[in-house]
Amino acid sequence: MSTTTYPVTWDLETFFRGGSESEELRAHLDEGAEKVRSYAKAVADFSTPEAADAAEKIVALIEQTKNTSAHLREAGAVIGCFLAQDTTDKKANLLQGETSALGAKFQTAFMSLQQKLSKTDEKVWEELLASGQLEEFSFILGEWRKKAGAKLPEEQEALITGLSVDGYHGWGELYDLLVGDMQVKVTVDGEEKVLSVGQANNLGTHSDPAVRKEAFEKLEAAWAEKEEFFAKALNSLAGFRLQVYEKRGWDQVLREPLEYNRMKQETLDAMWGAISANKGPFAEYLNRKATLLGKDQLDWYDFFAPVSESASKLDYQDGAEFILKHFGKFGPELESFARMAFENGWIEAEDRPNKRPGGFCTGMPLSEESRIFMTYSGSMSNVATLAHELGHAFHSYALRPVHQLNRQYAMNVAETASTFAEMIVADAAVKEAGTKEEKIALLEDKAQRSVSFFMNIHARFLFETRFYEERKKGVVSTARLNELMEEAQREAYAGALGEAHPHFWASKLHFYITGVPFYNFPYTFGYLFSLSIYAKALEEGEAFEEKYMALLRDTAVMTTEDLAMKHLGEDITKQDFWEKGVRLCIRDVEEFLSLTSNEG
Ligand SMILES: [Zn+2]
Repeated sequence: MSTTTYPVTWDLETFFRGGSESEELRAHLDEGAEKVRSYAKAVADFSTPEAADAAEKIVALIEQTKNTSAHLREAGAVIGCFLAQDTTDKKANLLQGETSALGAKFQTAFMSLQQKLSKTDEKVWEELLASGQLEEFSFILGEWRKKAGAKLPEEQEALITGLSVDGYHGWGELYDLLVGDMQVKVTVDGEEKVLSVGQANNLGTHSDPAVRKEAFEKLEAAWAEKEEFFAKALNSLAGFRLQVYEKRGWDQVLREPLEYNRMKQETLDAMWGAISANKGPFAEYLNRKATLLGKDQLDWYDFFAPVSESASKLDYQDGAEFILKHFGKFGPELESFARMAFENGWIEAEDRPNKRPGGFCTGMPLSEESRIFMTYSGSMSNVATLAHELGHAFHSYALRPVHQLNRQYAMNVAETASTFAEMIVADAAVKEAGTKEEKIALLEDKAQRSVSFFMNIHARFLFETRFYEERKKGVVSTARLNELMEEAQREAYAGALGEAHPHFWASKLHFYITGVPFYNFPYTFGYLFSLSIYAKALEEGEAFEEKYMALLRDTAVMTTEDLAMKHLGEDITKQDFWEKGVRLCIRDVEEFLSLTSNEG
């Protein structure tokens, strides 16, 4: 029973009053333009250090970098929220263009600073670091130096950054516009409903197979109808990316995402190796689920079908209490943080039209707050998503004592705190289950998550890797995109997939994110990485929270290999490490298989 009523919509007024028409926001953006101008001038006036006495100047520039970037990101995050809550907000759309242009100007100056620092003579560099003033930033400065050294000359990189506003990021923004505009008609409970893509996707958990099938088919048809637009956007943004790589002399498409995630290729190979070697039990789970649903094989639209009538539904208030209760068992900080987020309107969860599909968490660096976006319709998977996004927000919270420049953690570890929070909720729910039916439903939920990370994400990774290889040779046709996607799905689901989802390349927004390439394997990394942290948390109890927060604080100042070694004592370039996590998932699946062995 809920005692408090938490708001279902978020509060954005604390940042700028008056929504996208806000005068405060207007003034903030004008101030941002001024900040970018003076930052660019300061960088232009700075020259490559020739002696250790430049340390003070570098520290001052770092502060200016921090302030300018935080100012812009504050606006960018809030505008992103405006667009997510109402895809028809045209003013917000214009403002997004404006901030993204400002952001590109800032990036150009920022990169110039990195270039200038990267040219510092090795001996001077060592003296600078030895001076003590830059110690806090030694990792990030070293990374800048390394990255800038691998790029084109400054003017050329500046040109690329400038051109990328319309020629690259514009494609991703066009995608969001196209999707926000899409509607499908689905008959639910005898009534025809006009639904947004997000709402129709949520029907994948509906108990009526006819509803799931119809929603899937209507969506497939909607994607197919617009497939040429999506193929154009995907080919163009990939083409842009590949052109840039080619000019820089980078032949591996994975180079940028691996560097971005501060991890080695051998670590990625070890992770997929451990997963590929252990797909059997997950395929068996899918086949069992098909049997329970009275089918020979599981079709795409049945992945999230409830296997039993008792699959729990929780209204938003109860979902919130459920999360708080289980967070509390892990540690007091996580619980009190989440309670504050629920109470203070940090979360937008209402189920209504014109919202963007999916969920996210965004940080406002000036206010030191976060906002969470999702569409909550009461399924356990919605509760898990909510816990997931709260995990992201908690990560930002843990990083508050750390300098802004040392908070830029990568995707793979970004998904660690989120999946960790998700796991607390999912695992505790299984233990608490009152009936066998409920236990089956909850184990099912966990199995679904493993399938998502080990099969769905694997399919995305396989598709994207192969698509980029073909794109190097020219534009990839829609027919070929569908084919590549279906092949990737068949392989990733290890023969346990009935009807595939060939237009998944159009429906999954992650393929259109330009901020970060290959927005897929870091999820799986985060999931398995979290599992091993979670195992330690179970061993050590509440005392672990402090260590956990120390690990989170270190997420942006070392490679993932070093992070795991320092805080977990594990070598993540070895398949063994990843297999430990996979085995925990297999245990859940085996319990599900044994509980359902007499049914269906
Ligand atoms: Zn996430």
